[in-house]
Amino acid sequence: MRLLECEAKEIYARYGIPVPKGVRVKAGEPVPADLATIGPELVLKAQVEVGGRGKAGGILPATPADAPRVAEELFQKEIRGVPVREILIEERLLIRHEFYLSILVDRSSRQPLILFAEAGGVDIEQAARETPEAVRRVTVSPLLSEVPPFALRDLLGDMVKEFGPVVNRLWKVFREKDAILAEVNPLVTTDRGVFAADAKLIVDDNALTRQGITVNRDLSPREREAESHGFSYVELDGTIGVIGNGAGLTMATLDLIQFYGGRAANFLDVGGGADKERVKHAVRLVAGRPGVKVILVNLLGGITRCDDVARGILDAGVAQTVMVRLAGTNEAEGKAILDGRGYPMFATMDEAVKAAVEAGA
Ligand code: GDP
Ligand code: MN
Repeated sequence: MRLLECEAKEIYARYGIPVPKGVRVKAGEPVPADLATIGPELVLKAQVEVGGRGKAGGILPATPADAPRVAEELFQKEIRGVPVREILIEERLLIRHEFYLSILVDRSSRQPLILFAEAGGVDIEQAARETPEAVRRVTVSPLLSEVPPFALRDLLGDMVKEFGPVVNRLWKVFREKDAILAEVNPLVTTDRGVFAADAKLIVDDNALTRQGITVNRDLSPREREAESHGFSYVELDGTIGVIGNGAGLTMATLDLIQFYGGRAANFLDVGGGADKERVKHAVRLVAGRPGVKVILVNLLGGITRCDDVARGILDAGVAQTVMVRLAGTNEAEGKAILDGRGYPMFATMDEAVKAAVEAGA
């Protein structure tokens, strides 16, 4: 998972890599009043996980006085299609020179590879294509806790003194954070020393639990509850609550709702082998979203047993009408449980969706 620049910079700073002074501001929050303490000149940087933000208009200069207005402007933007939900306000650095530094997992040598280039900044990919020799590379065993001096010399030449410490600190970040990429582009020199002006850190998805990183950032309470149950759950803004099992069936249900002119309020994939308790939680969760007029349960029994599903629906006892399409294992038992209790049942998905769209209109 790619971290935001501000998150990566917080980590870099903890490892002793100098980063510009700055403050994070979320959309809807006021811009702090004491921005002059950050610096006389500022840059406002959209925190979006896309490359080339600068070129796409995601980085704007400002003074402490006009920062609130510039922040407003930046929050209105989409950077390469991504809405701006957070901004990093930083002191503007007086840059002497921009360098490039990164550590990544090199697939061919199956080892970490450190890259350094004197031509840093925004066009490193182009520079690497045009003059490959401008990018220096060294492979370092992942077992080493420090980058060996000879490797630093190969990488940095006569700039070992200036950049050696930063390379070693980034190496520590890379190893300890289970990164697959740790990049500083540009790494800049100023009158006040070396700074990481930008930061990109991608943590191996397989290490997110160990690193204590939650994948979804701005979860609603309902989304958080869904996550705790292991449901795949997404909130939308229509009127029909949707429960399915398996991503394919659930998405097909959504498509069909759309086709018949309805709008889903949310959808929840209970996953494989859902039992009575899981179904109960799922129905209550979906029903709890404001605006849900009707709930459509579209489940195929395999390992999941339709009688378990039926008991779960019954136990949930929600206020909205729950429309049900059940097929597969123990289908007859499931239907018998719900029969005559006010749960409209349908033999096909098509009929079920049509009825739900009508009820949700
Ligand atoms: P990116 O476009 O997403 O890679 O964003 P960066 O943070 O790397 O910024 C792009 C470019 O903007 C950098 O290469 C710098 O030239 C410039 N830039 C970013 N921060 C500063 C700053 O504090 N001072 C100055 N002078 N330039 C900056
Ligand atoms: Mn950059």
